[in-house]
Amino acid sequence: MYNITLIPGDGIGPEVADAAKNVVEATGLEVKWDIVNAGLTVYEETGVLVPDKVFKSIEKNKVALKGPITTPVGSGFRSINVMLRKKYNLFSNVRPIRTIPGINTPFKNIDLVIFRENTEGLYSGIEKKSSEDSAEAIKLTTKDASIRIVKEAFSYAEKNNKTKVTIVHKANIMKLTDGLFLDCAREISKNYPNIDLEEVIVDNMCMQLVMNPSQFQVIVTTNLYGDILSDLCAGLVGGLGLVPGANIGNDLAIFEAVHGSAPDIAGKNLANPTAIILSAAMMLNHLGEKEKSNFIVDAVLKTIDEGKFVTRDLGGSASTNDMTNAIIEKL
Ligand code: NAD
Repeated sequence: MYNITLIPGDGIGPEVADAAKNVVEATGLEVKWDIVNAGLTVYEETGVLVPDKVFKSIEKNKVALKGPITTPVGSGFRSINVMLRKKYNLFSNVRPIRTIPGINTPFKNIDLVIFRENTEGLYSGIEKKSSEDSAEAIKLTTKDASIRIVKEAFSYAEKNNKTKVTIVHKANIMKLTDGLFLDCAREISKNYPNIDLEEVIVDNMCMQLVMNPSQFQVIVTTNLYGDILSDLCAGLVGGLGLVPGANIGNDLAIFEAVHGSAPDIAGKNLANPTAIILSAAMMLNHLGEKEKSNFIVDAVLKTIDEGKFVTRDLGGSASTNDMTNAIIEKL
């Protein structure tokens, strides 16, 4: 029996979180879900963005599955996602991106994993107005955080027989911050003589990813570049509805899709549940339930390849529930 915190979130969050919960339960795994919510919906109801019971639940269970949470643009509260990642030191944001059979896209044979530094960089939230007409942000970069994410990427590469890790940076311009990140990567790579370190500047990386994405295996990068590149990569394999993610720390992990709360389709039973279901599969793998995790991935892939019950973003007309049920039937 596993105790897992489930945070439905905002927008399409509750719809897709429910889908993932149903799929996990359909594998036969015994789970006691602690359903606690945070975000805009809770704030509008209670005046509190993250109720205390959310923190308590995450701290007790150590594993959470989370739906997306809306963050206002420009003004308003700061991101709860970023806060949780920093509070629990979930330093490694892992986003696997693969070509999915049955998806109509011009890009083939993509099989890469992005390791995004998850606690600092331009996401540090250290911003101030310097005058009426100007504002500044600090791009915090530390040796410790850089080393630990690069180590994660190399250790993943070693365990999965990958031959190359690509570090994405802008150290030609950000000489001290990205320069430090790059130096750490060079240092750590010396411990992995069988894995090549490839250095690519972020603007060139965008072009390379669009021209020839199958050349990449493992990508390691800073917080903001990782955020942007993962949406770009999602586009290469069929869209945001498909890409899962994990935020991993030393003793706690939160699993969530790459996509946001998609307010344009929220509450309409239109959202693609794949990304959060695959995030749940990553969670089961993390818990040591490799076989059940693989069952879920296989059922998702079969459902998409068959193409009968896929959501609108994949060219189909199935609802979130239809697609979830089709996945469950294939387990
Ligand atoms: P988004 O990912 O919510 O949506 C971008 C586009 O992709 C939209 O057209 C949307 O309909 C589509 N899309 C996303 N997920 C989909 C799915 N599962 N099925 C089908 N289509 C899907 O990005 P956005 O519009 O830039 O952001 C909306 C809100 O989400 C913002 O408040 C943002 O801060 C928040 N956000 C939260 C997280 C998180 O909680 N981890 C991540 C990203 C964005």
